[in-house]
Order: sequence, then structure tokens, then C-alpha cells
Amino acid sequence: MSGSVAFIGLGKMGQPMVRRLLGAGHRVTGQDLSAAAVAALKEEPGFQSTASAIDAAKGAPVIILMLPDSPAVDTLLWDAGLAASLQPGQLVLDMGSSDPVRSRDNAARLVQSGIAFVDAPVSGGVKRAVDGSLAIMMGGEAEAVERVRPLLQAMGKTIVHVGAAGAGHAVKALNNYVSASGLLAVCEALTAAEAFGIDPHKVNQVFNASTGRNNTTDVKVETFMLSGAFNSGFALALMRKDLQTAQAFIDRMGTEDKFAQACLSAWKQAEEGLDPGADHTAMYRFIRGR
Ligand code: NAD
Repeated sequence: MSGSVAFIGLGKMGQPMVRRLLGAGHRVTGQDLSAAAVAALKEEPGFQSTASAIDAAKGAPVIILMLPDSPAVDTLLWDAGLAASLQPGQLVLDMGSSDPVRSRDNAARLVQSGIAFVDAPVSGGVKRAVDGSLAIMMGGEAEAVERVRPLLQAMGKTIVHVGAAGAGHAVKALNNYVSASGLLAVCEALTAAEAFGIDPHKVNQVFNASTGRNNTTDVKVETFMLSGAFNSGFALALMRKDLQTAQAFIDRMGTEDKFAQACLSAWKQAEEGLDPGADHTAMYRFIRGR
């Protein structure tokens, strides 16, 4: 095998992750449906773009997918013929936020052809993709997980093997459910406080020194929400997709999902009310505008 890592999906997260791999001395063959996404990496030493995902994967020991969702992964693997083009011994590493049940199925189908599968979604956003400090949760067989660990160490700091194939994607969806519900609560709280005449900057200052503190109050309120920038780099549509995955997963497990349903419904309304490319932090603008 060539030794180059294949990387499919060079979007907001894929680009900085590829730069981390290149910085750690890996060669990368990459592909994206968007010419602009490929062009952004063209000048990077060690990076080579290919005409198709199948070309990128040829001879690569590990094929990393950083695609929007499970439909995109399944289309590429099964309809576009990527899976059929792979050889025994290759490994598919799905780092996007895919659906855990579909990932478990993908692992089972690939293993029949001698191809390993690891799901290793990430948390931390574009900023932590740039500095290589992502949190990474892995699902898969222990041997396969250890094979990809050195690659993941170039991109992330906290790397946890959480269970069998699909378990990484389950934990990722559940994490984003907890994160999205925290962000929604902060938006409602800040808007109510402001309606009472309290400065939202002061409210957040108090939250950050109190038990209401969470990732939104800590890193999003000032920088992306009260500033009016709404440019964290994580689309609202992707957050809604993650919430839908989490709610469907909880439902399938037969455990309590009332709050997840309410949260998902609020994010769906925001998606319908905001422009298609809106950042997830624009939830604040949506709640405030109502
Ligand atoms: P993005 O939309 O910026 O990038 C996805 C890329 O995949 C696009 O460039 C698109 O052209 C490409 N693509 C789609 N189908 C393809 C195909 N068949 N072949 C080749 N390329 C294809 O999305 P992103 O923000 O980089 O997110 C990627 C994944 O990571 C998603 O699952 C998302 O939920 C997850 N994620 C994002 C963030 C974030 O902060 N942006 C954080 C954690 C996890």
C-alpha cells in the first residue's frame, strides 16, 4: 500500500484536519465534490488531490471520511462504488457525525470483504481542529482502533475508545444533544433577562461564575452570539441533523426522550426560520427575534 492516507470531505473540518495530518508527516490524497474545497489545500506540501474518491483510496491503508451525514457516507460507499473498490486489509475511518445504527451496518458489511471500519467522530469545532486538540470518540474492534490511533493523535487530544462499531457515533450524537439543549437554554435565558432590562453580557458573566456555566456560556456567547458574528463554523443544519440522530437513537433504545423531542422541535423551527447556511449560534438571533 502507498502509505498515503486518503481523506474524503475537505469542508470546514476536513481542511484543518488534513493540515494536522500533513504537519505530522503523513502524505494525504484528498477529494471533495467542491472544487473550492480541494483548491484550499492544493498548495500544501504532501497533499495530492485526485479525480475521484475511488482514486484517492487506491492503495491507502486508511480511508478517512469527513462527510456531512450518513446518507452521504452510504451513497459514496455503496452507490458510488467506493466499498467495492477497496482491498482486504484497508480500513474505513468515518470521522463525520454519522448515524450509529447505519455505521454498525456499514462495519458489518465491510468486514465481509476483509475491510475494517472504525467510527471516530470529533468534538471541539473548527478552532480545535486547527490546533489539533479535538475530542475523539472511537467505536470498533480493538485491533482496528489501535491501527488508527497514531493518525488520530495528529488531530485530537482526548481519544477514547467507547465501544463496538457505531458506539462512537452514538456518543457523538448524545454529546451534541446535551450541547444543543444547553445552547437553547442559554438563548432563552439571555433573551428573558434582556426583556427585563438586564445586560446580557453581565448575565453571561454571572453564568460563567455560577452553576449555569456550560460550553455555550464559556466559548460561544461573547464571541459568536452577543457579538452578532454567528460564525462558529458549525452549521445549524448539521446540529439539527445530530439532534435528530440522537432523538432517533434514544427512541430506538426505548429510554426517555421527552426533552430530546422538545429540543429537536425547537432546532427544527430555527432551521425553518433562518437562512439555509445559518451557523448554529444563530439560534440566539432566532429566539431573540420571536
Ligand atoms: P462541511 O459541509 O463544511 O464539509 C463537508 C464536505 O463534504 C463538503 O465540502 C462537501 O462538498 C463534501 N462532500 C459531501 N459529499 C461528498 C462526496 N460524496 N464526496 C466527496 N466530498 C463530499 O461540513 P463540516 O462542518 O466540515 O462537517 C463535517 C462533519 O463533521 C459533519 O458530519 C459534521 O456534523 C461534523 N462536525 C462538524 C463540526 C464543525 O464545527 N463544523 C464539529 C464536529 C463535527
